[in-house]
Amino acid sequence: MFKHKIDLKSASQDTINALIDDLNTTTRGISSAEAAARLEQTGPNEIQQAVGESQFKMLMKNFISLMAILLWVGGIIAILAGMTELGLAIWAVNIINGGFSFWQERSAQRATSALKKMLPTYVHVYRDDKLIKLEARDLVPGDVFNLQAGDSVSADARLITATSLEVDQSSLTGETVPEDKQVTFIPGEGKYSESNLIYAGTTVGAGTATAVAFRTGMQTEFGQIAELTENSKEEVTPLQQELDRLTKQLSMIAIAIGILFFILAVTIVHYPVAKSFIFALGMIVAFIPEGLLPTVTLSLAQGVQRMAKRHALVKNLNSVETLGETTVICSDKTGTLTQNQMTVTNIILPNREFEVTGRGYVNNGKVKFNGADVELTAQPQLDKLLQIAALDNDTRVQTDDKSVGKILGTPTEAALIVVAKKAGISADELSHQYRRLKEYTFDSSRKRMSTINQIDSKKEIFTKGGLDEVIGQCDFVLDGDTIRPIQDSDRVTAKDAEKKYAAQGLRSLAMAYREVTEDIDNLQMDQAEAKLIYVGQAVMMDPPRPEVFDAIKKCKTAQIRIIMVTGDSALTAKSIGQTIGIVGDGVRVITGDELDAMSNEELKVAVKQEVIFARVAPEHKFRIVSTLQTMGEVVASTGDGVNDAPALKKADIGVAMGVTGTDVAKDAADMILTDDNFVSIVSAIEEGRAVYSNIQKFLLYILTSNVGEAMPSVLFLLSRGLIPLPLTVMQILTIDIGTDMLPALGLGSEKPEPGIMNKAPRNPKDHLMSKNVLWRAFGWYGMIGAAVSIGGYFWINHLHGWPDVSLAAAGPVYAEATTMTLAAIIFSQIASVMNSRSQKASVFKLGVFSNHKINFGILVEILILLMLMYVAPLREVFGTTTLQWQAWLYLIVLPIPIVLIENLRKRIAYGKR
Ligand code: ADP
Ligand code: MG
Repeated sequence: MFKHKIDLKSASQDTINALIDDLNTTTRGISSAEAAARLEQTGPNEIQQAVGESQFKMLMKNFISLMAILLWVGGIIAILAGMTELGLAIWAVNIINGGFSFWQERSAQRATSALKKMLPTYVHVYRDDKLIKLEARDLVPGDVFNLQAGDSVSADARLITATSLEVDQSSLTGETVPEDKQVTFIPGEGKYSESNLIYAGTTVGAGTATAVAFRTGMQTEFGQIAELTENSKEEVTPLQQELDRLTKQLSMIAIAIGILFFILAVTIVHYPVAKSFIFALGMIVAFIPEGLLPTVTLSLAQGVQRMAKRHALVKNLNSVETLGETTVICSDKTGTLTQNQMTVTNIILPNREFEVTGRGYVNNGKVKFNGADVELTAQPQLDKLLQIAALDNDTRVQTDDKSVGKILGTPTEAALIVVAKKAGISADELSHQYRRLKEYTFDSSRKRMSTINQIDSKKEIFTKGGLDEVIGQCDFVLDGDTIRPIQDSDRVTAKDAEKKYAAQGLRSLAMAYREVTEDIDNLQMDQAEAKLIYVGQAVMMDPPRPEVFDAIKKCKTAQIRIIMVTGDSALTAKSIGQTIGIVGDGVRVITGDELDAMSNEELKVAVKQEVIFARVAPEHKFRIVSTLQTMGEVVASTGDGVNDAPALKKADIGVAMGVTGTDVAKDAADMILTDDNFVSIVSAIEEGRAVYSNIQKFLLYILTSNVGEAMPSVLFLLSRGLIPLPLTVMQILTIDIGTDMLPALGLGSEKPEPGIMNKAPRNPKDHLMSKNVLWRAFGWYGMIGAAVSIGGYFWINHLHGWPDVSLAAAGPVYAEATTMTLAAIIFSQIASVMNSRSQKASVFKLGVFSNHKINFGILVEILILLMLMYVAPLREVFGTTTLQWQAWLYLIVLPIPIVLIENLRKRIAYGKR
């Protein structure tokens, strides 16, 4: 059983064998049974972060807000003035409201933290002598794992092998210059600089390695630090800032109005001071948009959840908002716009071409080259090409004989493994014969990779990559079974063949090799990848994703531009771009080299037109993104590799690929696509737009009821108290922080409304409280609500004899009349929640009952109203009573004309939708 705790010193200074022994493991790892036993002991390999704000603090915050304090004070004054029941009721309302806000905030927190679990990190680890892909949380000490550029290191580990390994340890040290790491021990300066140790939480910038884990989870250095430091403060999104400002402004206005009303009540109506204060308090509470912030946070969080369902994991709430503002998407081609299911369709040799026929992954002999079985011994060029394809390859395909199985690596390389297998070459077997000595890893700037392998005493370098990048390094060509100097005509023939396939949207990888006689340890990449012998090309097909066609159309109507930025060749990129409808015939294709020669001004002019960037390196992406940003665009940019990280960080929305992306890219990104699919970016943008417009709907709705709540008081003052207050303070509180809450919340989860992708992106400078919201709330819905409720108040009084009998601010008639005001506001709010659900479309188009949360909210508000009418103690406190059937008829019919009139107005103003 495992019970070792290895310290840094022995891990770094003992021999590897001593450490391996000590950890009771081997250089090929442990068995899965042993691993399970160890996991039992060590616990999952996870960092348990200290929770930020305590729940208690979060709860208390809601009871010391401005409005809460006003209500506490109001309660005290009511009690002091002898209105004990009122005072207690005000407090009760305050507590319910605070609790509700707390619940909202917690739901939001839960929603976002649940997302973190949706995207596990993986390690490539040896178990039972086989390399498998495993969730990093299941890693245990003694596990031997592989690393390559872009991976994050999942445990504190000692290197067993390492080639040109560079590790970014900035998460531990703050130092951004990558550290060189190697198998032999060099102490280095400062903490974490032992050359042969790598640490959890760091990332691999370049190179490859195998390492043995000796500490996992909270035992790691990173875990220790995480335990010490509190979670960093949650950031406030610009939207939340704007709302905070808005809330403060509205609160100030509310208080000013309250003071004014107080003075008027005392001086003009000669109301008692305490009563005037309570009256003013009602006004203030009516106008403070108390539910705004927590509701917005919750809407953002719900937006994040909906995006997750559509395969886009957003890392912070901030991005939800930015997504809705996106004007340009810079997108990769491979895997994002296309399926990333590469199949080798053709093989180009200097003197002939093969078509690879037959589908799937079938054993030797069943699949044909040019329709016939090939004897590789009679085809030395093909043999060599497939050998390079199989050996200069970091991908493993776990398969059976019938179908292509799981891929551990990249689809491009998997396609090569598969085509070799079709001809009867097993990459696994071959790589046992040809031991790999060294690797010059693939890099999207170099666009090629090489390995040096040895069979018997013969060492060879195998290179594969883009045609230009490979053939440029070649001095010779393999022609039949002879090697001869390469001619210009060979290059032209190869290029022509590449172009022919590229025009059909196919990409090709060139292969070359040579014998290596130099001393490998000191062999630099440039010298190694030189004087090569050109062999040929493998042509691959990667069909477009069928769903992107529609998504691209959606972007067009939403006025979002798509700029393809790809490492592939110009012709391939153009062909795919035209097929899927991103660009037309007039498109300009700019290659990386051309881009380098362009000035910023020229680039600005170029990106205004239809454009594709091809043959670019990730560094170019950064320039493209930042140029677009200086032009005022809000840019989303995709990426997957280590070198994409700067562009991902620079972009307003950095989008990393969840399946094929490196851990480094995922770290740098704001959003991760769990399916690598372009469509998911568009869905996320749609949801982002919806969240913003939902928050506006919510704002519209709560402002609307403010008018209905305030008008009765205005009437009271204007009539110098002659018309008794049609809506009492307790009744105002009932609406404002009672019946309005749930339907308002329901607006936060409206689905993206039809047409939301038919308009231009929102300008980031636009205000939430737009003119449209303002006039609809105060000038239109609010006025209707006020009119029907005050009308109801007078009507009830009329039924009881008014104007013959003077209105009395007491007694059963007053209770009945104010109940009517209250009920009419609630029923007019039912209409207004329906009208708020869409800015331009009719609610019938959305489906009247399609938002279940709103349905539920309406049900609850009617229940509250019924309780106020029929539960005697509540009747006392809220000054309410039952209504006659005529009144009910009025209430029930009320929402219908309001909704119909508004739908008519929308129809006239915006046309049929
Ligand atoms: P994209 O930008 O479309 O995602 P990639 O970055 O995958 O394109 O590839 C860019 C170019 O790099 C390819 O056209 C190809 O020439 C080369 N390339 C891609 N993958 C490999 C690989 N595994 N080994 C060598 N060269 C590669
Ligand atoms: Mg790529």
